[in-house]
Amino acid sequence: MIHVAVIGAGVIGAAIAYELSLVKGLRITLIDKQVPASGSTGAALGVLMGVLSRKTKGRSWKLRQTSLERYETLIPELEILTKQSIPVNRQGILMLRFAEESIGEWEKLITIRQSQGYDLKIWDQETLNRKCPHIDNHRIVGAIYSPQDLQINPQKLTQALVKGASINGVNCKFGIEVKNIISNTLKDSNVRQCYKIQTTEGNIKIDELVIAAGLGSTPLTITSSQPLDIRPVLGQALQIKLNKLPGNKDFQPVITGNDVHIVPLGNREYWIGATVEFPDEMGEIISRPELLEKVKRKAISFCPTLQDAKVIKTWFGKRPRPQGEPAPIIRKLPHYSNILLATGHYRNGVLLAPATALAIREYWFG
Ligand SMILES: Cc1cc2nc3c(=O)[nH]c(=O)nc-3n(C[C@H](O)[C@H](O)[C@H](O)COP(=O)(O)OP(=O)(O)OC[C@H]3O[C@@H](n4cnc5c(N)ncnc54)[C@H](O)[C@@H]3O)c2cc1C
Repeated sequence: MIHVAVIGAGVIGAAIAYELSLVKGLRITLIDKQVPASGSTGAALGVLMGVLSRKTKGRSWKLRQTSLERYETLIPELEILTKQSIPVNRQGILMLRFAEESIGEWEKLITIRQSQGYDLKIWDQETLNRKCPHIDNHRIVGAIYSPQDLQINPQKLTQALVKGASINGVNCKFGIEVKNIISNTLKDSNVRQCYKIQTTEGNIKIDELVIAAGLGSTPLTITSSQPLDIRPVLGQALQIKLNKLPGNKDFQPVITGNDVHIVPLGNREYWIGATVEFPDEMGEIISRPELLEKVKRKAISFCPTLQDAKVIKTWFGKRPRPQGEPAPIIRKLPHYSNILLATGHYRNGVLLAPATALAIREYWFG
């Protein structure tokens, strides 16, 4: 049996371990230094802007399209297998339109999406007021409604992927850190092959390796001739609770405007986020409370009833952003025959997890 190790049990590594668990003849080990979904995935809001994204062709759109399709089968498949429910908001995503924006680009996108089999609707102010009476700002002139885009709980999804993988025979090792990748040079070539990984609990012999370690991917490749350069971009978010449900109780889509998401959770609770904070010249990155306050104020400016909400919790996470190449990184580590990289998903890891897992599966196993 071919032994594949996957380093990282965030949404990416968990999705890969699950997808590979469906391939016959593999022995799979999934390793994380913490518990699953402790990294960037643990902070994510799970807003899956596929149809609403401005990407219409090439690799970026292909990944989105593949994820949109795979999510449709993956969610019921995992729920049946694991007997765990995965919270998914199927009421779509509503992108607010502001007075200064032109509608022309949206009209073009709608035509393209229609040809791709997706539905996007332009709502005028009257429609928006009727469907979402809690949106109230004089600069908002309408919205784009995307009924096929989803929001999913990233932590619950990752846990279900890990459980599903484990039921399918994947050996899950959590609380173990991979310290080093040991390789030798293949005879008569300059290509290297990894044959074992050193961990805090001893060495593990492997045939194939997938590095899906988010920000941890940089130290793992540091000794290779072309190490990855993935840097953190911090994001803060908050959870609030209201006394009274705003808007229409039967229609609670994710609302997004000016890069701020308002994510309904049920029980009159919402996630609001997220900030986008880059490291300083020294590479340091410390969350700035005033930026989270600004995000909250923006959300209140769209939806004034949020003013009365009680803040239940705040948190931050660090998104893995590649330097010098586009996100995400899904390719071989140069000069290695058997190391695949699935990392650097920056702001779209939850969206792109199913497509990434399929790409890794296809890479090796067709
Ligand atoms: C506030 C916020 C909001 C976001 N909202 C969204 C959103 O709405 N939609 C969306 O699609 N994306 C969103 N994202 C982005 C998304 O969270 C990331 O793109 C995604 O989680 C990356 O997943 P990952 O599995 O690659 O990384 P991670 O979740 O960081 O997982 C990497 C794992 O590798 C492990 N690891 C690292 N090094 C080692 C080692 N040496 N040995 C063993 N284990 C190791 C870590 O412990 C970690 O568990 C958001 C991010 C933030 C911060």
